[in-house]
Formats: sequence, structure tokens, C-alpha cells
Amino acid sequence: MKENASQQEAEWLHRIQKNDEQALGLLMRRYYTDLYNYAARFTPDDALIKDCIQEVFISLWQRRQTVGVILSPKFYFLRAIKNKVLKSLDSARRKIGNQTLPDTFAARLGTRIKLHSPITAIEHGNSGVRVNYLENGTPARTEGDYLVCAMSARMLARLPVTPAWPEDRAFAISNVPYYHDTRVIFQSRSRFWQRDGISPNMQFGETSLASAWGASEEVKTARGLLAGTASGAGTAERALATYKKYYPGRSEDIEKAHVVVWALDPWASACERTSYAPGQLAKFWPVLIEPHGRIHFVGAYADNLNWGMEAATRSANRVAEAIHKL
Ligand SMILES: Cc1cc2nc3c(=O)[nH]c(=O)nc-3n(C[C@H](O)[C@H](O)[C@H](O)COP(=O)(O)OP(=O)(O)OC[C@H]3O[C@@H](n4cnc5c(N)ncnc54)[C@H](O)[C@@H]3O)c2cc1C
Repeated sequence: MKENASQQEAEWLHRIQKNDEQALGLLMRRYYTDLYNYAARFTPDDALIKDCIQEVFISLWQRRQTVGVILSPKFYFLRAIKNKVLKSLDSARRKIGNQTLPDTFAARLGTRIKLHSPITAIEHGNSGVRVNYLENGTPARTEGDYLVCAMSARMLARLPVTPAWPEDRAFAISNVPYYHDTRVIFQSRSRFWQRDGISPNMQFGETSLASAWGASEEVKTARGLLAGTASGAGTAERALATYKKYYPGRSEDIEKAHVVVWALDPWASACERTSYAPGQLAKFWPVLIEPHGRIHFVGAYADNLNWGMEAATRSANRVAEAIHKL
């Protein structure tokens, strides 16, 4: 993909730096179809793609004095359009909020779903499965032909199960490797990185703050929001100190730092499965995704994809199909 600029393109880029708007139009025409086709891999939304292409070129124009030498315009524009489209899709998602998805499912399921009712124990036999849980703090139980267990392996390992898991399954459930990250959020009085003419996307590589990126940029306010990640159970103070160490000066505008520590979440303390160590996979696979009697397992950890919503959804489809065929 990293093809160097042709002589013609290099000339247009040079003219853009000299404030020649016509050269910008020529460069845009040169790349329009390539960018459109590439962006269409991420979304079928024609209007959004066209807006994003325009924004890529407007952004180049606005930063023409500071952007430096673009050795490979093709690589530069393809990367820029991808970032722009993914960011726009992300903003669109935030307008309705990710929580809308489970809330909509829950509403469709009506009284069949019991929110705020943690399972406390599982009993299983040849003819069915019984689940004990707390409903508004009061012990309750329910029975079914099958159980689809959708909590993380970390949570499942904490539950009493009767009869107990066989040794290989107990090992697999208890030892799935997970990482625990902390989401870091900085609120600032200004979008100071814009005033400095630099990207808010930064890698720090420290446990207190691994990376940070611009968030909620579509919100019409002078204030700025940065999101970031810290390893393990991070603190707002340490994350902010690291940020200011690498970005002194205008970052003084940060007025609030906040962290969400997943490790402290009572129901979702395991963030995401990590890789199995070399030679370990056979201890987990395939036992982790196979049903045990009338109990089936779904979740991001119970799929061949290594992580994420797609793995979780795929595992759910697999189990729905398996039960349907029984
Ligand atoms: C900060 C963050 C950002 C992420 N970003 C992305 C992303 O951009 N894209 C992506 O694909 N993935 C992302 N992920 C990963 C994604 O969220 C997970 O892979 C996915 O949610 C896992 O789905 P799951 O159904 O396996 O588990 P979960 O979503 O964790 O669902 C398990 C459910 O079990 C419930 N539970 C636990 N214990 C009990 C109990 N005793 N009784 C009853 N219920 C219980 C929990 O409350 C929870 O609702 C992100 C994760 C985090 C933490």
C-alpha cells in the first residue's frame, strides 16, 4: 500500500502547502474513487462516506503548514479515511448509547428476563437444570430442560455447582486467563491538543496510562474529553500524572480525571480473555466450549475468536443451534 507519491502528486502536495486550493481539488479527484471504495468496506452509508472524504481533505487543508512531507499519499489517505469513517460510526453509536442494545432485548423478552437477580448456585441432572438466584435479595429458584450459561468463566468459577464439574472442566473454567483494564477519562477546559495542532491519540506504554485518544468530539462544546486505558486497577491520579509528564504545558487544562476499574465491578471483573500460554491450549480446548450434560456455555471466552462482541455473539448462535437440534 505504501506507494510513493508520483511526480504529479508531489507537485500537488507542494502547491497545497503554498495555499493552492486548486491543487487540493485535483488531489481529491485523483483519490476520490479509491477512498470511496475503501470506505464502503466499513459502511454502506453513502452520505457518511462522502462527508468523511470531504473531511479528510478539509483536515489536510487546515493542517497543510504542519502536516510535513507525505511520502505515500495513497497510504496517508486510506488510513485517514478509515479512521474518519470508524470514528463517525462510533459517534453515531454513542448518540443512542450502547446500553440501548441490551435494554431493547430485555424489553422484548418482557417478564422472561429477570434483571438484578444474580445466580447463586447451579444444580443439574439427567432430566433438567435448576438455578438458584436472588430476586430483590430474596432466594428464588427456577428450573429448565437446559441452562445456557452466559457469564464469564471468572464469574462461573465462583458458583457452587452440584454435582461438581469434572476435573478437566473445573481446571478450564477456573484458569481462563483474563486481563483487567481500567478505563481512564479526562475532562479538560479546552481541546488543548487542537490548539497545539497535534493528534489526541497517544501511546504512553506505562501501566498507569497505556494510551489515550479523543472522545465525544462531536459534542458542541469548547471542553475536551479524552479516554484512555491503564493496566490492571489504575487510579485517576496516576493516569493524570503520567499524561502531564508526557504532555506538559497546555494539558494543565485538564480539570477532572476519572477511572472505571473493571476489576472492582462485582459482575464483570474479568475484562477480556487473553492468550493462552504456549502448550496450554489443550487444557482448555475444546472442553471450555463443549456442553456439560444439559449445561451449555456462551460468552466471548467460549469461541474460537479470541475476544469481543463478535466472539460472544458467535458462541450464542452456536449454542442456540445446538439446543435447537436436540
Ligand atoms: C472497556 C471495554 C471496552 C470494550 N470495547 C469493545 C469493543 O469496542 N468491541 C468489542 O467487540 N468488544 C469490546 N469489549 C469486549 C466486550 O465487551 C466483551 O467481549 C463482551 O461484552 C463479552 O460478552 P459476554 O457475553 O461474554 O460477557 P459479558 O458482556 O461480561 O456478560 C456477562 C453477563 O453475566 C452477568 N453475570 C455475571 N455473574 C452473574 C451471576 N452470578 N448471575 C447472573 N448474571 C451474572 C454479568 O452481569 C454480565 O451481564 C470491551 C470491553 C471493555 C471492558
